[in-house]
Amino acid sequence: MTSYADFHRRSLQDRDGFWAEQAKLIDWHTPFSQVCDNSRPPFTRWFVGGTTNLCHNAVDRHVPTRGAQNALIFVSTETNQERIYCYADLHAEVQRMAAILLELGVKKGDRVLVYMPMIPEAAFAMLACARIGALHSVVFGGFASVSLASRIDDSEPVVVVSADAGSRGGKVVPYKGLLDEAIQLAAHKPAKVLMVDRGLAPFPRAAGRDVDYAPMREKHLNTKVPCVWVDSTHPSYTLYTSGTTGKPKGVQRDTGGYAVALAASMKHIFLGNPGETYFSTSDIGWVVGHSYIVYGPLLYGMATIMYEGLPIRPDAAIWWSLVEKYKVTSMFSAPTAVRVLKKQDPAALTRHDLSSLRALFLAGEPLDEPTAKWIAESLGKPIIDNYWQTETGWPILALCNGVEPQRSKFGSTGKPVYGYDVKLIDENTGQELTAPNQKGVVVIEGPLPPGCMQTLWRDDDRFVKTYWSSVPGRQVYSTFDWGIRDEDGYIFILGRTDDVINVAGHRLGTREIEESISSHPNVAEVAVVGVADQLKGQVAMAFAVLKDPGQSDTPEKALKLEGAIMKVVDEQLGAVARPSRVRFVTVLPKTRSGKLLRRAIQAVCEGRDPGDLTTIEDPSALQQVKDLVAG
Ligand code: AMP
Repeated sequence: MTSYADFHRRSLQDRDGFWAEQAKLIDWHTPFSQVCDNSRPPFTRWFVGGTTNLCHNAVDRHVPTRGAQNALIFVSTETNQERIYCYADLHAEVQRMAAILLELGVKKGDRVLVYMPMIPEAAFAMLACARIGALHSVVFGGFASVSLASRIDDSEPVVVVSADAGSRGGKVVPYKGLLDEAIQLAAHKPAKVLMVDRGLAPFPRAAGRDVDYAPMREKHLNTKVPCVWVDSTHPSYTLYTSGTTGKPKGVQRDTGGYAVALAASMKHIFLGNPGETYFSTSDIGWVVGHSYIVYGPLLYGMATIMYEGLPIRPDAAIWWSLVEKYKVTSMFSAPTAVRVLKKQDPAALTRHDLSSLRALFLAGEPLDEPTAKWIAESLGKPIIDNYWQTETGWPILALCNGVEPQRSKFGSTGKPVYGYDVKLIDENTGQELTAPNQKGVVVIEGPLPPGCMQTLWRDDDRFVKTYWSSVPGRQVYSTFDWGIRDEDGYIFILGRTDDVINVAGHRLGTREIEESISSHPNVAEVAVVGVADQLKGQVAMAFAVLKDPGQSDTPEKALKLEGAIMKVVDEQLGAVARPSRVRFVTVLPKTRSGKLLRRAIQAVCEGRDPGDLTTIEDPSALQQVKDLVAG
């Protein structure tokens, strides 16, 4: 067996040979002539000259050999449905969806925005886009009209695919009203809206624009739509994520590099085998859903479980009952979900036969040690924490136990994954920190491996300036995370260096939340910070200065105003971005040059020392925050 250290070394030193070997995991219509073209850094191109298709690799190529095997297993504890699509069924459904999109005018290179709950049609839509060379842009169903409108304007979709409603904890969450509002707000107007009617929430149809999915599917029951062979570098999708500024970033991914990276990761990281079942509890609106609910497992010929519902409904055994029923071999979830389970009866975890399960993979936010220990002991299975980002599309740090089994360390997200030349640098000097146990910014020496972002949608400048400017003159990608490496080469992630916060694994920009709160007529100024939380990892906390302080001069009035401001955020961005508290102050802590001291506010909220305050304009401002937190 190859040692992992050798495997990793080879991936960097013999980069082209290494990736040419991994590229055999997928089908190529035309072979590539160059593995990696890095002649115009940081715009790296992978498998140049090759043509392929993501949908062909995820669906069509499996039909002759495993057509009758499970491909997509849909389980909803919200609507009490369980539907299984074998590869042949999936092949047919995806072609129907592709035929509909074509009829609605979608062409190669066009964008299709997918705003949907966790239902199979969402996966059909994604795969259908890939099939015809269109780009999907999936927007998380928890986002509301303003978030959605900004994504519509940036991606300019020809068609939006949506549904009447999602459901959460038995409560129907209508989507169509929010979508109509978003389209009204947006400058760009999609030509068509394809609606899946689940019969959960009646909705009006806009004449000439809205089209029902069911009759269209009926019409195209037997339509065959061939895969369009696209260049390896053809963009497969955009996915929006939060950054330092309020404007969301459209992460753009290629086709061939992504397919190769995901297929290889199923083998080396996620311990999968074709014909087995993979279960990721994420949502298709996030990158984990893209890579490890839809594409990764299917590219590797596995069955994937798509689950709509809570982890504790009807009871805390639900996920584990699915592991038993479908003989899940690899499972992927987030620390917050585990913390939710931890509050339930621990017997729920062991009531079912989990013998098929090899490991539980956790990612998306820091995994605290008590939670890691609890789940490892409760399941009696390896827990593999892995660290990555929307930008990279697949893990940067993990334990590649498919190459060589390695010991995990509590609190560490593992070692650099093959293909990633991970380094720590000093924030101020950009110098590499080579000695162990030094805190630095986690960066990746370019080129990034296949599968990572190509650029930001229609914004090459922002891509270069945002990610590639931490070490001038060198091709170095910044993750915007702090990290520390121990003497054994294990890395520990210590949180973001920017204004991004992580609430229950959901990545949010504090600036987006601030912009939303500022739109309330009585808010003059606001600061939002992420504060440590036992269950969600972090929560957003807002401190606002009012135009009319009289509206918060009694506890009752303050509470009412706080509720009204939260409602604004709910309506504009979605409940996912709602701050846990909105507190009122007369002045915000700022430097003499007018910069908000967010880190000092955060430290005070977490009961930590706010550090050097010599530049603060008005020390009483921080005292107000202190008093509110103490009170
Ligand atoms: P997203 O792009 O939504 O996947 O969020 C990426 C960010 O989540 C990273 O930059 C980290 O701040 C955080 N993150 C992801 N995985 C982990 C992990 N395993 N441990 C700690 N933080 C993580």
